[in-house]
Amino acid sequence: MSSDRLLEIDNLTVQYRGDVRTTTAVDHVSFGISPGEIFGLAGESGCGKSTIANTILRLLKYPAEVASGTIRFDGRDVLALNGEELRQFRWREVAMVFQSAMNSLNPVITIGEQMRDIFTAHLDLTRRAADARCAELLELVQIDRNRLKAFPHQLSGGMRQRVVIAMAVALRPRMLILDEPTTALDVVVQQEIMAEIKALQAELGFSVLFITHDMSLMVELSHQMAVMYAGRIVEQGPAATLHRQPAHAYTRALMNAFPPITGPRVPLRGLGEGVRLTRVGDLQPVGHNHWSAAVSHEDRERLTPHAAGSEGGPR
Ligand code: ADP
Ligand code: MG
Repeated sequence: MSSDRLLEIDNLTVQYRGDVRTTTAVDHVSFGISPGEIFGLAGESGCGKSTIANTILRLLKYPAEVASGTIRFDGRDVLALNGEELRQFRWREVAMVFQSAMNSLNPVITIGEQMRDIFTAHLDLTRRAADARCAELLELVQIDRNRLKAFPHQLSGGMRQRVVIAMAVALRPRMLILDEPTTALDVVVQQEIMAEIKALQAELGFSVLFITHDMSLMVELSHQMAVMYAGRIVEQGPAATLHRQPAHAYTRALMNAFPPITGPRVPLRGLGEGVRLTRVGDLQPVGHNHWSAAVSHEDRERLTPHAAGSEGGPR
C-alpha cells in the first residue's frame, strides 16, 4: 500500500486470551486511510470493528493482545508509543466518538464544564480562554452557546451526540474514529448527525474511520470501505463500487439486506439464519483498487440458494 496514507494498518491480529479458549477478534487485517478520506468499516455485531478502533487508540485491555501486525500513523509506530507520546497522540492526532458516547456524558456536570476540561487539560488555557473556545465549539455543531450551562439530561439525544462530536474535534485531530455514532438515534436525527459530520469534515479536513453496521449510511458517507466477517476483511474498495458491484457473497448479502438510501434503516443481517462462512480466503484484486476474498467451495455451496423448487415466485 502507498505511503501517502495517514493511517496504515498491516496484518493486524488481535486476540482475547481466555483460560478455555482464545478468540481471534481481528484476524490479519490490513487497510489504510489517506488524509481527508472517509473510510467505512462495516460488518455485523461481533465481527471485530470496535476491537480495531480500540487497538488504534491503544485502549486494549487485558486479556486482549496484539498477536501480529503494525499500525502506523503518519509514519509513526503506534504500537510502540510510550506514555507521554500516547497522551499527545490521543485526542490531538486521533480522537474517537465511542459507541453510545452520548450516554457517557457526566450527568451532574454542565456541558460547558465537561468541554472546558479538554482545553484546560490539554492546552493549558486559562478558564476564560477555554470557555470562549467551548462556545465556538458548540456553535460549530449548530448548538446555541447558551447551552453550555445545560446539564446533559436537558439536551435531546441528537444534541448530546453533537456535543460529544464537538468534544472529539476540539483539538483539531487529524483523524476521527466514529464507532456507531448514530446507532441509538432515530432515523431523522441520524441523518442530521451524518450531515453534521460531513460538514465538519469538509471544514476541518480530518480523516474519518467510520464504523457502523448500517450499510446505507456507510455507502452514503464513505469514500473507501471494508467489509468484515468474523475478524477478517472479506472485501475492500471504493464504497460506490462495493455498492454497485459487490464481489463477495457476504457483501452482496449485506447490500441486499438494506432498502434504498431513502427507505427505513434496518440492522445488518448478512447471511440467512444459521449460515456461517467456514473459511474466509485471502483478498485478491478483482478490479481497480478493489479486493475480495476468495470463497471456498464449501462456502459457495452453503451460500447458493437452491435454484430448483424455489418458492420465490415468478419475476
Ligand atoms: P464489533 O465492534 O464488530 O461488534 P467487537 O470488536 O466488540 O465487535 O468484538 C469482536 C469479538 O471479540 C467478539 O466476538 C467478542 O465476543 C470478542 N470480545 C470483545 N471484547 C471481548 C473481551 N473483553 N473478552 C473476550 N472477548 C471479547
Ligand atoms: Mg462495536
